[in-house]
Amino acid sequence: MSIYDIHSHYHPGRVGTAITQLTADTFEIEPGGYYSVGLHPWYITDNWRVEMATLSVMALHPQVAMIGEAGMDKKVNAAPLELQMEVFREHVRLSELVRKPLIVHCVKAVDELLAIRREMKVAMPWVLHGFRGGVEQWRQLSRAGIRVSIGEHYDEALIREIPLTELLIESDEAICVNDIYERVAADINVDAQELRNQVWHNIYQLLNVSF
Ligand SMILES: [Zn+2]
Repeated sequence: MSIYDIHSHYHPGRVGTAITQLTADTFEIEPGGYYSVGLHPWYITDNWRVEMATLSVMALHPQVAMIGEAGMDKKVNAAPLELQMEVFREHVRLSELVRKPLIVHCVKAVDELLAIRREMKVAMPWVLHGFRGGVEQWRQLSRAGIRVSIGEHYDEALIREIPLTELLIESDEAICVNDIYERVAADINVDAQELRNQVWHNIYQLLNVSF
């Protein structure tokens, strides 16, 4: 078993190599697969409390490795920010309760994210996925206990700054995670296979499990 793609919506690859994103109405578990369960900020409706109740049950499943993706997004005019924050806090509580790390979607709301992490005295690690920010922002997040994962679009200076032992890689909505590995590996001058093994190790450390 080797998860080397920390966040995927499609996951066309081999079962068990990615953490695949599920929602309250798409809870289909394959043998040997790993999943995250959450309510994305783009899709918050009046029904969110019912969905959270469903997600809380799903979260207990042993093949659910992470909670999320959940978070805040100021770019979409979906739910008002206050509501997005309320829903996000529910995910934080769930993550703490079941002791599974949280995968975070955050667009233009890093201050709010840091404030919530401080105010709720969080113990579990968070991973801000699809991180496109620069070195300074990464340092700020890192000090607060928030990791980042790198997808199709990333800052090249940042990728050289993050220690190999902290690097996390995801396909998100891109089709092939291997292409992302090739590019990142070339940018930081390591062998792609070696990088994959390292990220695999990093993900297992983050999840604090040995599958
Ligand atoms: Zn995603």
